[in-house]
Amino acid sequence: MLMKAEQVEVVSQIRDTVKKVCEEYGGEYWREKDRNRQYPTEFVKSLTELGLLASLIPEEYGGSGLPISVGSEILKAIHEFGANAGACHAQMYTMGTVLRHGSEQQKQEYLPRIASGELRLQAFGVTEPTAGTDTTSISTVAERKGDQYIVNGQKVWTSRAEHSDLMVLLARTTPKESVEKKSQGLSVFLIDMRDALKNGMTIKPIRTMLNHSTTEIFFDNVPIPASSLIGEEGKGFKYILSGMNAERILIAAECIGDARWFIKKASDYANERVVFGRPIGKNQGIQFPIARAFSQTEAAEAILDKACALYEEGDTSGTYANMAKLLASEASWASAEICMQTHGGFAVAEEYDIERKFREARLYQIAPISTNLILSYLAEHELGLPRSY
Ligand SMILES: Cc1cc2nc3c(=O)[nH]c(=O)nc-3n(C[C@H](O)[C@H](O)[C@H](O)COP(=O)(O)OP(=O)(O)OC[C@H]3O[C@@H](n4cnc5c(N)ncnc54)[C@H](O)[C@@H]3O)c2cc1C
Repeated sequence: MLMKAEQVEVVSQIRDTVKKVCEEYGGEYWREKDRNRQYPTEFVKSLTELGLLASLIPEEYGGSGLPISVGSEILKAIHEFGANAGACHAQMYTMGTVLRHGSEQQKQEYLPRIASGELRLQAFGVTEPTAGTDTTSISTVAERKGDQYIVNGQKVWTSRAEHSDLMVLLARTTPKESVEKKSQGLSVFLIDMRDALKNGMTIKPIRTMLNHSTTEIFFDNVPIPASSLIGEEGKGFKYILSGMNAERILIAAECIGDARWFIKKASDYANERVVFGRPIGKNQGIQFPIARAFSQTEAAEAILDKACALYEEGDTSGTYANMAKLLASEASWASAEICMQTHGGFAVAEEYDIERKFREARLYQIAPISTNLILSYLAEHELGLPRSY
């Protein structure tokens, strides 16, 4: 456990390191990747070599064992300094499923190799085209046959699947009709996609408005070893839920980073751009919205800090993690909008990076969980209102 002063020092060093990496991979690098919808392999490799993606893996498994508040600072800094962690953030929270629910053998087998970068765990296959947010209605099945499971079904929006060796997969192992509660009978597997690709699994990229390497995946009688089951059969939904708070927190951190990037870009431009003989930033119509976005961002960050503190104390309620994600995604979107408006026509020119970041920032009100679902969580769990679905 880091002491407060030590943590401030670690975060400051990490921010310097991240800043250097981001300077190495500047705007032109991201623009080119975006234009060609290419995965930023070199950037991810640099982060991996510096151990940044292994920061949350405990030291005994080859990582740095840092708390989530430091993991958040890493992702925040990546976004604040103009890069995008969407290509690799899942490694940070997906490994939590193996860490919390995997057997000691699975942890020994995978975590050190994930920490070193030998194995990439970037893919997380939960969402399906028909079920959508209603995860317990997924129809991908894994049927036990001897020492294997046979997987059939389809996933959608499985991001980074083409750039990952492993995937955490959620599948139904007991039919919905045969369980008391529909959250039962789902199981989590850690599958080796290199083997699955040779045995009936196909990955189809989906071209989207942002460069996110997302895909759909088809399973046609894909055999996976029974040993790829994580924890107990049938408890998978609970395991997936237990990783959600970390995911919400880390995504909120990215949103804060994006908001800072937009706010700095807008303020700098408002100072520099002279129209009618004076900087546009002298007009309160330009200043006030930037100041408002700044306040929104600071407020969201305070909730994010609280969410991190609660997570580190072992609190498992999702309230603050969800609120952090909600408020941070709204702050980043407000900042994106104001950055666009402040730049006038130049905002839409690719070379300013604003239009790209604008497209990227919009995602976070939809994924990994949409705003409505966060609001219904808060309504139900904090306000005692009836469950709406
Ligand atoms: C670029 C991208 C990357 C992604 N990466 C991954 C990934 O790696 N792995 C993965 O498993 N998933 C991934 N997702 C999926 C993502 O988590 C879902 O898109 C998201 O959870 C929303 O689900 P949906 O798209 O099925 O929307 P739906 O569930 O169809 O919902 C559509 C709309 O209706 C609203 N809605 C639905 N039900 C209710 C309700 N009861 N009350 C109020 N409003 C409601 C939702 O809020 C949403 O606005 C990704 C998605 C995108 C777009």
